[in-house]
Order: sequence, then C-alpha cells, then structure tokens
Amino acid sequence: MLQVTPVRAFTDNYIWLIHSPRDPRKVIAVDPGDASPVRRALAAENLDLAAIMLTHHHGDHVGGVADLLQEFVVPTFGPAAERLPGDPHRLREGDVVDLADLALRFEVLDVPGHTAGHIAYVGHGALFCGDTLFSGGCGRLFEGTAEQMSASLAKLASLPEDTDVYCAHEYTVSNLLFGLAVEPGNVSARDYLENCRAKRARDEATVPSNIRQERNVNPFLRCHQETVKQAAEARAGRRLNRTEVFAVIRQWKDGFRA
Ligand SMILES: [Zn+2]
Repeated sequence: MLQVTPVRAFTDNYIWLIHSPRDPRKVIAVDPGDASPVRRALAAENLDLAAIMLTHHHGDHVGGVADLLQEFVVPTFGPAAERLPGDPHRLREGDVVDLADLALRFEVLDVPGHTAGHIAYVGHGALFCGDTLFSGGCGRLFEGTAEQMSASLAKLASLPEDTDVYCAHEYTVSNLLFGLAVEPGNVSARDYLENCRAKRARDEATVPSNIRQERNVNPFLRCHQETVKQAAEARAGRRLNRTEVFAVIRQWKDGFRA
C-alpha cells in the first residue's frame, strides 16, 4: 500500500506527499498550492522532494510550484492543455508518469469539467483527482460542461472499488449534508457523515476515501440511481436524462447551504 502524507494548506486544501516505496524519505508533492507548508513538512520529517505532479491550473494547486523549483531541481508533471508555472512535462490520457528510481508509476486520465484540461493520476491502488471528485461531492463546473464532468466522474467511478481517493479539499461533511438532502434515505451516507463528523471533531482528515464508499454515498456518482433521479426531477419539475440529472444536482449544490 502506498504511503501518503497530507499537508494542510490554506483553509481546507490537502497537498499530498507520496512516499517512494524504495526510499520513503523521497516524496512526490501533488498540487503544491503553497510552498511554505510543504517546506515545513519536508523539514519536520527530514524528507526530500523528488517530483511534483499537478492536476489543474488553479492557484491553490500550483501557487507553490515556482517557489519549490527554486530550491529543488525536480521533474514536474501537469496537464497538456493548461497554463502552468515551471516547465512541466505535459500529460494527457494514456500517458504514464514512470519514476523508476522512486519505484512509482502513475497512469494519467483526462477528467475535464472543473477545468477544461484537468487530469488525474492513478497508480498503486490510489487516485489523485484534484478538484474533480471529492468525498461525497465533485468540483464546480468552472470551464467544462455538465456532460464532460459527468463522463469524467463515470470514468473515476469505474476504477477498482478499493482504489483510495485522494482529493484536494476537506469538504466531506458539507458534501454529505447535501447528499442527504438529495437522498434522505441513504443509510450509508448517514453513517459516513457521523463517522466524518467524529474525525473532524478530532481534527483528523476524512480523506482518503475510496471508490466503493463514493459509489455508495456520493450523489454525483449516483445519477443513475432512481432515488437521485427522482429528487432531481422533482426539483426540475420534468423528466431528465442522466446528464440532466447530474446538471440539476450540480446546480442545486451550488446554491445549497447546510
Ligand atoms: Zn480547482
């Protein structure tokens, strides 16, 4: 199993440090939006930055890259079609990040929707999905369409169910409150909410989640379920196809206050 350390940044971001199985002191930083907490984490644990992987261009994901690259000369990877700091290796679906010296290898998936060129990394039973899939929710549609995001989420939902989901924000509790507004009878979501609230009360991260859990509790992965479809149709006041169900609950969530 992959060893991954969370680094908290800003109010609710997670920058993930993926440890090399060969030399756990060497780490890949995923989406370092801020260099300072990464530096502190590296110093505190006596770690060495070995690479940087980026999922999309938003400042809270790439803001620390230039700063880190001044101190560490490391390979950087990012989406093919987005404006990014540094000079990253440009990746799209089908590409592989193969860091043989770290014994780490990740496949790249295109997951447009939150941004037009958003990518995700899958390997070693783990998914690093930036702001596409959150535990209990999904990213806002800033650049892509509902159709694109819906397809991107379906792609992630089809990964092996024991795949750990390392998303980039601690949004789980508020996402689950929304999910229960959509599906009040979802017992798995209710249990999971209780569990996550207890973790937050202890100031623990609720993530990583995994694909099995998300299929059970995340309304955005459940647009094909009759309960979610009915809730969306009641809200829209008409019959909806699957993409429309997704679009309606995404819009519902945008205006939802728990
Ligand atoms: Zn973002």
